[in-house]
Amino acid sequence: MKVLVVEDTENSRIILVDILKFHGFEVDSATNGIEGLAKIKLANPDLIVSDILMPEMDGFELCRQIKSDAKFQTIPFIFYTATYTDSRDEKLALSLGASRFVIKPQDPEKLITIINEVWSEYKAGKVVTHKPTTTDAELEHMHAEALNRKLSNKLLELENKEEELKLAALVFQGSSEGMLVTDANNHIITVNPAFTDITGYKLDEVKGKNPSILRSDRHDEIFYQSMWQELINTGNWQGEIWDKRKNGEIYPKWLTINTIRAVDGTVYQYVAIFSDITEKKQSEELIWKQANFDALTGLPNRNMFRNSMEQLLKRAKREKISLALLLIDLDLFKEVNDTLGHDVGDILLQETARRIRDCVRETDIVARLGGDEFAVVLTELTGTSHANTIAQKIAADLAEPYKIDNEVVYVSGSTGITLFPDDATNIEALLKNADQAMYAAKKKGRNCFSYFTQSLQDTAQARLRLSNDLRNALTENQFIVYFQPIIDLNTGSIRKAEALLRWQHPERGIVEPLDFIPLAEETGLINDIGDWVFQESIRWIKQIFGQFQSDCQVSINMSPIQFRVEDETFEMKWLGYLREMGLSEKNIAIEITEGLLLHAETSVTNKLLLLRDAGIQVALDDFGTGYSSLSYLKKFDIDYLKIDRSFVYNLETDENDIALSNAIIVMAHKLGLKVIAEGVETEGQEKILIEAGCDYAQGYLYSKPIPPNEFEMLLERDRTKKKSTVC
Ligand code: C2E
Ligand code: CA
Ligand code: CA
Repeated sequence: MKVLVVEDTENSRIILVDILKFHGFEVDSATNGIEGLAKIKLANPDLIVSDILMPEMDGFELCRQIKSDAKFQTIPFIFYTATYTDSRDEKLALSLGASRFVIKPQDPEKLITIINEVWSEYKAGKVVTHKPTTTDAELEHMHAEALNRKLSNKLLELENKEEELKLAALVFQGSSEGMLVTDANNHIITVNPAFTDITGYKLDEVKGKNPSILRSDRHDEIFYQSMWQELINTGNWQGEIWDKRKNGEIYPKWLTINTIRAVDGTVYQYVAIFSDITEKKQSEELIWKQANFDALTGLPNRNMFRNSMEQLLKRAKREKISLALLLIDLDLFKEVNDTLGHDVGDILLQETARRIRDCVRETDIVARLGGDEFAVVLTELTGTSHANTIAQKIAADLAEPYKIDNEVVYVSGSTGITLFPDDATNIEALLKNADQAMYAAKKKGRNCFSYFTQSLQDTAQARLRLSNDLRNALTENQFIVYFQPIIDLNTGSIRKAEALLRWQHPERGIVEPLDFIPLAEETGLINDIGDWVFQESIRWIKQIFGQFQSDCQVSINMSPIQFRVEDETFEMKWLGYLREMGLSEKNIAIEITEGLLLHAETSVTNKLLLLRDAGIQVALDDFGTGYSSLSYLKKFDIDYLKIDRSFVYNLETDENDIALSNAIIVMAHKLGLKVIAEGVETEGQEKILIEAGCDYAQGYLYSKPIPPNEFEMLLERDRTKKKSTVC
């Protein structure tokens, strides 16, 4: 059987011809209606399979002509179409005399079945020509309508395609992302304006070239190879890449490459889209810097320090390297900041950072952990003497004078040292050790360094235990107030007393205030404790002094911490207690240290002035050990000056101290202050003090601090001894 295939699309035609041949048909083909008609006339096929939409003459016309030609009109005609799918198209086809109207694509087997069916029908004598009911005019009208329909559909399709193309062109031209299209051989076909903006290359400069002209030398061959590998495997690649602009500048970009493939699957084009991420990178870098570096000194901050340490410790463990961690805390930095201002403080920190950095190797870590605290890690330690040498050098360099804005400033550093892996193997423990060692160095005096040792560790642990116990001490009634009498040097009788706190620890016995007051201050417990001392003291004043109808005064030590509490107005509370007890403000004095006045914020001075205004007197404790600034005494209207016992101690042996005490006493009197000498232990000292005109004395010569009941007896004795003047 001879079949004629009329089909304009090459692929479809070839496939259809192949299928038919495979099923044993003799096949001829034509690419449009005119050619088809000629071949029919020439070869007289047994059956025709024809497409509809074709150039020159479409399938409908071909069918109409065949079916109206008496010579050929019996040849079975099958439409095989993809574009005409409307039921009206089918109606027209059948009216034209087609045997079947088959819509593409069709299962080849099915198509063969249809052809065979039609062939059998033909053999059985069924001949299809024009439908008897349909006139030629009607047919022509239907054909015209079908064509028209098709045409408008096609037009619409084209319009949509054009819109798409326009849109694509618009995106290509207007996009802020650089775009680049290459052919299958990776030669540049076109680029968009943004490409030119970013790379500096115009189209004519890059056309036909390989995009590798954009490469910087930041990536190695392996990078590009793996990029191509991925492009080949998956069809696309995306990532960050450093390229070079025409002006030579190297910049980062975010690049996406897509492969466009032809219908047969071969590579047709590559399209690359990229954006310049220089700014994004810069701001990311800035954010990273801010998170990891200290803005003032440029050193790594605590965060960065931890990260570097983590890395370093991993390596050190692997490679069995020893390290030393040095924690350096500046001595007296706060004083500089307070007296000379923050600007000077800042310059000082920058300078100390530089000095520390200069003491160590490039590979060692130097970081600022905060405030005036620095950390140094000596990597690849060659021995403990190495750490020793560096610590000594740092101490010496830091102690050199700093010249800042015409001022010469002195500070020094206290350094704590701990070793890896000898002392500890993790950051937390190393930092804790170094901190303890630094604390010990501070205790030794300024400008010292100290190694972490087991005994330091033990002390630290004991402190921890003690601070836990301290929390319970108040509720468990473990505190006692002792009184130490203060003697009027003019009369020799007891005029005052100082309340001194004692802690009766259930296991340790009496714990000295110097061992727990700093702890109480660190933990903030001092506020509650101080409040208790006040209440307890006035309770005793009422009980003891009440019997003597006296204007005797008890002075109470106050920690600077108590002045810093903002939400609690202890001063009002205390005045309230006094009133409740029916006592006068004159029965109470408070003892403060110079440090409080030196760093006084307004909230502190306000509290102090409130107490003063209420009539409570103020004594300045430990005078001579700190700044000893007389100007503060005047400014804050202090009533008593307590000469520190370290001065009194040397009075009999050191001429200088005699002179100094004399001077202090004279100055104090000039400012309207009374002077109390602390720690008077001998009659010799007492004599010198009396000669110098000192007003009061306190010390073991008269009595140690004693429990209230003993103090009561002491007062009793004192009263009978000197009837008139005793409290
Ligand atoms: P401070 O205020 O300088 O108290 C005087 C210290 O000198 C007392 O030590 C006292 O026992 C001691 N002392 C007195 N006379 C002599 C003497 O002749 N020779 C010698 N060597 N020492 C003498 P204490 O009681 O151990 O108190 C130590 C420090 O603890 C006090 O120094 C004070 O700063 C603080 N403190 C004591 N009680 C309290 C309190 O209730 N609150 C606060 N915030 N601090 C307190
Ligand atoms: Ca005191
Ligand atoms: Ca004192």
